[in-house]
Parts: sequence; structure tokens; C-alpha cells
Amino acid sequence: MLRELVIGLDIGTTSVKAVIFNLKGKLIGEAEKLITFHYPQSGWVEQDPYEIERSAILAIKAVIEKADVKKNELLGIGVSCAMHSLICVDEGGGPLSNALIWADGRSSEQAEKLMQTEGINIYLKTGVPIHPMTPLAKLLWMKEVEYKPFYKAKYFMSVKEFLIHKWFNERVVDYSMAAGTGLFNSKTLQWNEGTLKLVQVDKEQLSRIVPPTEILRGINKNIAEEMGISSQLPFVLGAADGQLANLGIGAISPGEVAITIGTSGAIRQFIRGFEVSDKHETFCYRFTEEYSIIGGPTNNGGIVLNWIKGLLGPQDSYDELLLEAKKVKPGAEGILFLPYVNGERAPVWNQKAKGNFYGLSISHKKEHFVRAVIEGINFNIYQIGKSLEKLAGEPQKIYVNGGVSKSPVWIQIMADIFGKEIHVAKTHHSAAWGAAWTALLAIDKVGSFEEIKENLPMGKVIIPNEDNHKIY
Ligand code: ADP
Repeated sequence: MLRELVIGLDIGTTSVKAVIFNLKGKLIGEAEKLITFHYPQSGWVEQDPYEIERSAILAIKAVIEKADVKKNELLGIGVSCAMHSLICVDEGGGPLSNALIWADGRSSEQAEKLMQTEGINIYLKTGVPIHPMTPLAKLLWMKEVEYKPFYKAKYFMSVKEFLIHKWFNERVVDYSMAAGTGLFNSKTLQWNEGTLKLVQVDKEQLSRIVPPTEILRGINKNIAEEMGISSQLPFVLGAADGQLANLGIGAISPGEVAITIGTSGAIRQFIRGFEVSDKHETFCYRFTEEYSIIGGPTNNGGIVLNWIKGLLGPQDSYDELLLEAKKVKPGAEGILFLPYVNGERAPVWNQKAKGNFYGLSISHKKEHFVRAVIEGINFNIYQIGKSLEKLAGEPQKIYVNGGVSKSPVWIQIMADIFGKEIHVAKTHHSAAWGAAWTALLAIDKVGSFEEIKENLPMGKVIIPNEDNHKIY
């Protein structure tokens, strides 16, 4: 029987994943190709655009072969991509530089200076906190150090724009990828002229801004052949991975909050319109004309758990280590842990922030430290959530995903701190499913973004312990 299938292509930081779903969101197959990191100098983090393109082609090819998909079974491909990458590109679309990715910190001085001058005004218009992760700060660095590719560049593109240009010969960018640059006015949905002047970039050097449901057809024939798809298959531009992960987890209506804790973490929710915090705590990125996503990313998620595991229990499994926390009452008998061991983005946006254990006494054991770490990371996310609450009201429903959500102990502590039920998502492919769903919406196979809620595998619901919540 002929199946109806759709692919979510998720261009992440460590890998490109191609995931095939049926129309109900059931996983039919997945393939992943890793991307190499290059560190030309301390604090610089680059990737090769051609390698990312190769990974994307090979991931699509591999998943189509694995799931034995016939050309006429595939309805479309939706694209998700990590934000904030920047490539200097020549007239023909060839890269003059590597992709400087979000983790690249070379422009920290420029970001600091900007924060002391017009940073806040730019943030209020663009919704992007002033930070070296943004292409805005990276372009300021390029200009200041007279980076040769900057002066030679005909165009500037993100990784996603580079791929799309290469495959379709079109220079287009969706609202959310544009919003991640710091050059996009999230109120007018146009490039922000004032910021462009600051970095000496002309509007013509940037791509045409389109909604996430923009359809591209007519992919380069050789590439289509290599992928194993018809060259007329619709590609739907999609959005950035944060927006699509919220969509793919079902946190779409205002009031529905999604918390992701993988290596790093984030708390996000959709709102109507555009809202920023006057304290520069949260981001606000456009998704569609109607919706934006607000939230805050933290550098300190599972990476901190891994650090403490290495110190206290390298031989333990995650479950064994985290179960230690159950031996101790909420509050870890007086230990407070400030989790900024990795610098921090939200809520403090300070790369020089440091971690701290406070309140140590001679009676404290391994289990106290484990509990304090879980509590510290969750309280940090809770604090970012409080900033969101000021903009969007009290959360109605909280979803959680990411590697750490596999731990029942962790999620119970989170539920107790928030004092709310936590809905644990079953899928680890939220961004890919969000991208695939956007493709289905664009080609009129489904009626709305909201309908995705009927097509989600949901996991457990964790109920808060009221006594523990009072202590917290
Ligand atoms: P990424 O953010 O790289 O996509 P994941 O969402 O898969 O990664 O999360 C990976 C992190 O999840 C690991 O670094 C680890 O800290 C944490 N983790 C993995 N397995 C477990 C587990 N069983 N219980 C708790 N945490 C876990």
C-alpha cells in the first residue's frame, strides 16, 4: 500500500538529522550525520558549510534507503536549523569563510561595547539579547579586525540560507532565522536599517524575508538524484529549531511552556505579537506574522550534570547518580548551588559568570551535592520562567524534553519547584516533527499549526508534591 510520508530535516549543531514521519507523527525512520567542529583559535567555533551540505544530502539519502521510501510516497521536506550562524558568501554562492556558529565567542568585546552604547535599543527592536552568538556581533568583529572575507563578501547567509541557495538558487530566509541575526526588526518584519548601517551591510547583501510556509520546488537535479527524491518535491523553508521544537512538542498556544534540558537548556513559549523584557533577560523571535517565541537559553543543563558525575560518580549510571538525591530532603540540607559553571546566557547574559556551592558543612555527602546540582539547574530555569511570566502570564501547561527528562527524579524535583504538573514528551525529534508539520501545512495537507496536538506521542505526567513545593 502506498504510504503518505514527510521528512523533517533538522540541521543542528552537532549533526544533521533526517527524520521520516507518517501524517500522524509516527516515526518511520531516522538518519544522522555528524558535523565537525573547527577551533582555529581559542573561543572560535567554526563549521565547514560544504560539510554541512554533504551531511544533509547524505542524511536524506540514508533515511530514504533505510525506510525504503518510494518517490511517490514522499509529500515534502520541512527544514529546521540552529540559529545565529554566519557565512561570508561570494557572487555565485560559494563560501568565502567557514560558518561562524552560535557558540563562537570571538566577538565578545564587540558585544560588550554594544551593550554599553545602543545595545538595549537594538534588543528592543530585534528581540535578540546582545551577545557574541549573534551575527550582528560577529559582523562588528569582522569590520573591526578587517576580516578579509567580510570585505570580499557579496552576501551574508546562515547555514540554512547557504544550503537553500545551493540547492534552489534562491536567496530566502524565514522570519525566525532572520530574527536570530540581530539585524531584523521583529515589529516591521523587515531588515532593520539602523543596525545594517552600524555593520556597514547593505540590504541587498541579505536574503529576501519570507514566512516559514514558503515552498521551494525544482531542486538541482543532481542533488535530487543523490538524495533519492523527485526534483519537484516541495521543500518548505520552515523555521529555527527552537520554534519548531515547541511546535513539535505541542506547546503552541499562549500559556503552554516547553522546557528543554539536553546539554544546554531553554524555556520557551509562543505569544501573539512581539514582547521583550525591559531588563534584557529574554529573547523574542518571530515565527509567523501572528506568533513569536519568547524564552531564555541556559548554558548550564546536562553539561553540569556530566561535570558533577565525572567528579562524584564516574562509575554510576545517570539513574544511579540521580537516585542519590532521593536520600536528601528538598533544600539539600542547606547547600545552594549556583549553576553558572559554564558562563551563562539567560537570565544574566554574562559569559564571565561563575558557579558556586554555598552553605557547605562537614556533614554533607555526595547525595547532598547531587540534590543541590539538580535544584540549582532547575531554579535557574524557574527564574528564567519568571521573566517570561512577566510578559506572558502564568504558565498553564509545562512540557519537558531533552536527555535529562529521562530521569524521573529530576522531573519530580522540577515539578516540585514549579509547583505545576510536568508533561514529559515522548519524542526526541520535536524540531524535526515541527519542521515536517510546517511542510504539511504549507502544502495544505493539514489545516493549522494547532492540529499538531492531535498527532503527538505524549509520555508521563508528573504531579508536584505540595509539601516539597512549599519548602522550595
Ligand atoms: P543534546 O542537547 O546534545 O541534543 P540530549 O537532549 O540528548 O543532548 O541530552 C544529553 C544530556 O542528557 C547528557 O549530556 C546528560 O547530561 C543527560 N542525560 C542523558 N541520559 C540521561 C538519563 N538517563 N538521566 C538523566 N540525564 C541524562
